[in-house]
Amino acid sequence: MTDIPILELRNVSKRYALGNMVVAALENVSFSIAHGEFVTIMGSSGSGKSTVLQILGSLDSPTEGQYLVEGRDLTRASENQLANLRNKHFGFVFQSYHLLPELNALENVSLPLVYANTARREALERASEALERVGLSHRKRHYARQLSGGEQQRVAIARAVVHNPAVLFGDEPTGNLAGDGRNKILEYFEQFHAEGSTIVLVSHDLEVGARATRRIYLKDGHLEPHENTLEAFSFASPSS
Ligand code: ADP
Ligand code: MG
Repeated sequence: MTDIPILELRNVSKRYALGNMVVAALENVSFSIAHGEFVTIMGSSGSGKSTVLQILGSLDSPTEGQYLVEGRDLTRASENQLANLRNKHFGFVFQSYHLLPELNALENVSLPLVYANTARREALERASEALERVGLSHRKRHYARQLSGGEQQRVAIARAVVHNPAVLFGDEPTGNLAGDGRNKILEYFEQFHAEGSTIVLVSHDLEVGARATRRIYLKDGHLEPHENTLEAFSFASPSS
């Protein structure tokens, strides 16, 4: 453990050019995330949550401001350097599960390791362990079309953690799920947090926010000052 934040944004703005118009997705956003935190980024639709997650995960770069990982300024790092960072240290889970339909669950989960040149046999072994961690040992040979939405998302989580990333990112990972399927996904995020991972979870769902150790609230691309009080969100009543 160290005092240096694992992730930091300094005065980050993100603007998109749309014809003659400029869309400001983020305006002067600054915050940091410590090792081992479980942070939810909350706010209504269009508030800039996905944009901030993409920048934190080095999938996108700011128009202005700085992006730091463990105190290192990577704002101008090469795409190669960033891809390397993601492959080694970051895992991602998205709302729609993005499993490859022609591969079974085990093969899907092993893919990040195969891309990182791990021997196939070892990759499959570690994929098998990752599926075990999300309670899907009995679904290894199943294809996406043979799995429920909740099961598909658990396969996606296994794929996101198969290389033991330092940070697990989720962008509305329960957005297409309800009931037990949804609760299971949240339980796995909590479990990885308990095991020491840093969690960054985007959601407009108050119940998801309640599980985090800290909440960051965005409104129209700005940080809202009352970040950690859940009550504040009830007043703000973010909705999809
Ligand atoms: P959220 O995830 O909170 O719904 P986003 O981060 O996806 O919000 O979007 C924030 C704002 O930026 C929205 O107004 C959205 O329309 C705009 N935006 C996002 N991506 C693009 C893009 N590629 N081009 C133009 N505008 C975009
Ligand atoms: Mg979004």
